[in-house]
Amino acid sequence: MERGWVDSHCHLPDVPAEAAEVVDRARAAGVAWMVAVGTDLATSRTAVHYAEEHDNVYATVGLHPHDALKLDSEWPELRELATHPRVVAIGETGFDLFYEHSPRDEQATAFRAQIQLAHELDRALVIHSRDAWDETFAVLDAVGVPPRTVFHCFTGGPAEAKRALSYGARVSFSGIITFKNADDVRAAASVAPATHTLIETDSPFLAPSPHRGTTNEPANVALVGESLASVTGRSREEVMATTSAAATAVFLTRS
Ligand SMILES: [Zn+2]
Repeated sequence: MERGWVDSHCHLPDVPAEAAEVVDRARAAGVAWMVAVGTDLATSRTAVHYAEEHDNVYATVGLHPHDALKLDSEWPELRELATHPRVVAIGETGFDLFYEHSPRDEQATAFRAQIQLAHELDRALVIHSRDAWDETFAVLDAVGVPPRTVFHCFTGGPAEAKRALSYGARVSFSGIITFKNADDVRAAASVAPATHTLIETDSPFLAPSPHRGTTNEPANVALVGESLASVTGRSREEVMATTSAAATAVFLTRS
C-alpha cells in the first residue's frame, strides 16, 4: 500500500465523473486511500461501484440512522451487497437523537441488524452517534461490539472517548478538530492512543479550517491530520503513519 494519508470516512459525489475528479485530487494531495461510506441502498451501491473503479477507494454498506426506516425495504439487498470483497465495513449506523429524523426504536432496530451483520461477515462497524451515548452503548452491550469498531466523526470529550476505547473501539476525528469551539474534541484526541485514532473528512460536510463552510473533499484530510499532530504533540509524519496504520488495522484486516 502506497504511503500517505487515509481518509477513513467520506461521501463521494453521486456523479461518477465528479467522484473521479475528487479521487484524483485526493491522490495528488497525498491521500493513499479512502473509505466511501454508504448511508442507504442507493449510496451504498454507488460506494461499491467507486471501489470497483478506483484502487484507492474502499466501500461501506449501511443505513444511516436518518434512513433507518428503509430497513424493511432495503435490507435483503444491503446484506447481499455487503458480501462484496471491496466492502470493508458495515455502516454508518447508530443513533442520531439530535435530528431524530427516524423514530429512535427504528434507529435501534437498524443498528442491531447492522452490528449483527458486521459480526457475521467479519467486517468493521462504523458508528454514527449524536446526542446518544447511552443509547449507543446500551445496544453495543446487548448485541456485542465487533472487534473492529469505529466511532466516526467523534464529537465527545475525554470521558466519552475513554468509554468508547474501553469497548476496544477506535475513534475517528473529522475537521471539527480544527474548529475554534472544539476544545472538548481536541481534549478527547489528546487522551486517545495513536493505535486507536483515525482521521476522516466526512466530506462533503465539515470542511476543516481554513476551508470551513466550503464543500469538503478527501484531499483535505491532511489538514485534519496536521491539527491532530498539533493537539497530540506528535509530528505530521508520525500522525500520517499512525492514523494510516490504525485505518489498515480496522478496515483492511479480517479477524
Ligand atoms: Zn458520514
